[in-house]
Amino acid sequence: MIRMLPLLLATTLVACARPSLTDQLAHASWIDLTYGFDSTTIYWPTAKPFRLEVVSAQRTAAGYYYAANNFAAAEHGGTHLDSPVHFAEGKHTTDQIPVAQLVGSAYVIDVSRQAEAERDYRIAPGDLEGWEQAHGRIPEGAIVLFRTGWGSRWPDRARYLGTTKTGVAAVPELHFPGIHPDAARWLVGRKVRAVGIDTPSIDYGQSTTFDTHQTLFAADIPAFENVAHLSAVPPTGAFVIALPMKIRGGSGGPLRIVAVLPEGVGPTM
Ligand SMILES: [Zn+2]
Repeated sequence: MIRMLPLLLATTLVACARPSLTDQLAHASWIDLTYGFDSTTIYWPTAKPFRLEVVSAQRTAAGYYYAANNFAAAEHGGTHLDSPVHFAEGKHTTDQIPVAQLVGSAYVIDVSRQAEAERDYRIAPGDLEGWEQAHGRIPEGAIVLFRTGWGSRWPDRARYLGTTKTGVAAVPELHFPGIHPDAARWLVGRKVRAVGIDTPSIDYGQSTTFDTHQTLFAADIPAFENVAHLSAVPPTGAFVIALPMKIRGGSGGPLRIVAVLPEGVGPTM
């Protein structure tokens, strides 16, 4: 046995000869899954929209150019994070979510056909099970991203939200797909790391009790909403990095989310 050890070691080393992480990242392609923040960015109808106030955009008396702005916005608008505390008292605030929970392997579930046929479509456990039959099991620690096709409607408020109204009167007129609470329970059972969707909310537009929010957040599973360009991310093989502004005590916040495609994993566009 002792004599066989070098052979065993050599075999193990050959099996492990993979490109280093730095090498993989250097050759990876990156997809930005984030919408820009400006005056057209869609916010929840009752929320304050994004506002940019120019402080300076000019050459100074000293001869150098100087640009600076002030900005203000609600936490929940544009591409953003929902922290568990948003619908679950005592659960993680934005700054408390471990960074490791905001990065991970992406599993993209395409329900655009169902959502196209029914704008109030709610993603069901059957959609997840059907996906698994085609692509394999969604493992513990997955970041599950739902592609409803709603991204093609951005930033047309009428088509994306179902209404151009703002304020409380707009809320009953919201129509867009979301995740059924049964599917949320399924995802909690799978111990996923985080959940994302390309619509304004993980609950569908007509929800009045936000059960999917309540279910996921009670399990300290954060959500990403208004995720952009999901059509470019393949069903498996991508790695997601979703880093929000670290607002202390925040219930969410503006999010920069990107997908990393290792060499050999092509975009689906
Ligand atoms: Zn939100």
